[in-house]
Amino acid sequence: MNSALGIGMTSQRTRDRMVVRLQEKGIKDLKVLAAMANVPRHLFMDEAMAHRAYEDTALPIKHGQFISQPWVVARMTEVVVQQNPNKVLEIGTGSGYQAAILGQLVGQVFSVERIDDLTKIARRRFIKLGYSNVRTKTGDGFKGWENEAPYDLIIATAAPEKIPHELLKQLSIGGVMILPLGDSKNQNLVKITKINDLPGADGYSIEKLESVFFVPFLEGVVRK
Ligand code: SAH
Repeated sequence: MNSALGIGMTSQRTRDRMVVRLQEKGIKDLKVLAAMANVPRHLFMDEAMAHRAYEDTALPIKHGQFISQPWVVARMTEVVVQQNPNKVLEIGTGSGYQAAILGQLVGQVFSVERIDDLTKIARRRFIKLGYSNVRTKTGDGFKGWENEAPYDLIIATAAPEKIPHELLKQLSIGGVMILPLGDSKNQNLVKITKINDLPGADGYSIEKLESVFFVPFLEGVVRK
């Protein structure tokens, strides 16, 4: 069914089917699956794309960016939920979909996006859907969201080539950072645990998870 109206009427059923496929692909956490069944992914993209919203694929949004693939969102959210965090910082709001999923499962989500237009569109979605525990601002993710630090967990949905050390500073001790690390040819999801406040590699441990592909983590803010 291609029309926006059709999607509206059948979205719960198509979403439930997506959740079954996510389970078949190895997503086990029932809370994560429930969040994926709740959040209307088709409202996080342009209407012209909405008929593909429940395919397990990344889709283009404005400004050459992407809404992440449902399986990747679910997998990263499983790692988040294992930590049982209350206060979470996301870098790379994009469509707002990952932030919305997190908002179903943790106390508060702060999300930073470098492209101001995307921040504004995502914020309107959170308001419209009543997701009042998700806040977003335009900023350079390399700098985090200092006023609200420390965070129990930080998740990045754009890939830096090196660990952004300012973000480690904004993590509480024992906190976890999940991010894709690497360039467009070789990227891995990594889980970093902050052990203490020592600078450099003495302050954290790092565990490699699966190979992924995300857009690059870029410096500076875009306002136009
Ligand atoms: N979480 C998003 C994925 C969006 S793609 C979703 O669920 O739809 C990654 C986003 O990261 C893009 O919107 C890109 O503009 C943003 N990004 C890249 N580098 C950034 C930085 N330094 N600070 C903030 N956002 C950044």
